[in-house]
Amino acid sequence: MSIRADLAQIPLYAPPTLEGLSLDLRDNVNLWGAPPSALASLQSASAALLRDYPRVSASALTSALATQLDIAPAQIVAGCGSDDVLDACIRALATDGATLAHADPSFSMVPTFARLNRVTPIAVPLRADGAMDIDGLLATRAPIIYVCSPNNPTGTATSRAELLRLFDEAPGIVVLDEAYAEFTDAHDLRRAAAERENVLVTRTFSKAWGLAGLRVGYGVGGVDLVAAVTKARGPYKVNAAAEAAATAALTHDEAWMRDVAQQTRIQRDRLAAALRGRVGVSVWASEGNFVFVSLQRSAVELAARFRTRGIGVRAFTGLTGIGDALRIGAARPAETDRVIAALDEVFA
Ligand SMILES: *Cc1c(COP(=O)(O)O)cnc(C)c1O
Repeated sequence: MSIRADLAQIPLYAPPTLEGLSLDLRDNVNLWGAPPSALASLQSASAALLRDYPRVSASALTSALATQLDIAPAQIVAGCGSDDVLDACIRALATDGATLAHADPSFSMVPTFARLNRVTPIAVPLRADGAMDIDGLLATRAPIIYVCSPNNPTGTATSRAELLRLFDEAPGIVVLDEAYAEFTDAHDLRRAAAERENVLVTRTFSKAWGLAGLRVGYGVGGVDLVAAVTKARGPYKVNAAAEAAATAALTHDEAWMRDVAQQTRIQRDRLAAALRGRVGVSVWASEGNFVFVSLQRSAVELAARFRTRGIGVRAFTGLTGIGDALRIGAARPAETDRVIAALDEVFA
């Protein structure tokens, strides 16, 4: 048996499983629940839906998306979460010696997917003001540039104009992760990606759409890039129940999603305001469904204090240029009341 030697240097994604949390704000999921039409779709599933193979590339879902976006179905690739689409995209672009430039900190799975596909990640620190260093990313001349906006974990959004400049000036392919775009007015660059050959914009049903358990995401781009990503992804990655439920949500529950996203923004800003001004705490201007605070104290210790109150938050240590930090997901009003009520003791 010979397992790839480099796997030993690639981290396993294994977040700690925490028992006994009554409010889990670690994963940025939608605390308002799931779209009613998706639940109804799953509850009425037939035996044939489970017996048969799903559509090979989720064409019912991609057609519904294409209609909404007024683009061709061939400009959309769906996958088992947007993670799958990101992984397949990197694989499709993994020429010998390829590199991938990404902001640091940003979505932690991306350098892992790069390494798994034998692409070398190049970390480009955020600027001192926390913004994405677009010029620094371009200066790497990497054939793949990944950007996330609003960025996970910092929540900062990059402007539409800056992203379009990146699209124009990049030497190769730009992957723009819009996992949190429903929570900001900063940009929706799906149609812009469809009009180009060098951009893939990814979206997910895991956050604003409240369907993380179904594992559905997609990418939008030019037809040649989308065809390559589809080939690298492989068949049947969106299962039949997930495709039906996500398509139902997209078709019938856009208003639900928009309403929940709006409420999320209100609660996020309430939480941010309650955190602001505390000693040793810097609250970042988040445009995602979470609040990010950098700390002059131990994130692990603060997360443990939340945990004793049944609240799960994500602790980061040693982030490049930042150090310790917490990421706290936005939640419904009464849940946010509970988090805010705990702050004086947690940060005492
Ligand atoms: C949550 C998240 C995703 C979504 O991943 P899925 O595989 O679709 O659940 C993608 N990118 C970022 C930055 C995220 O935070």
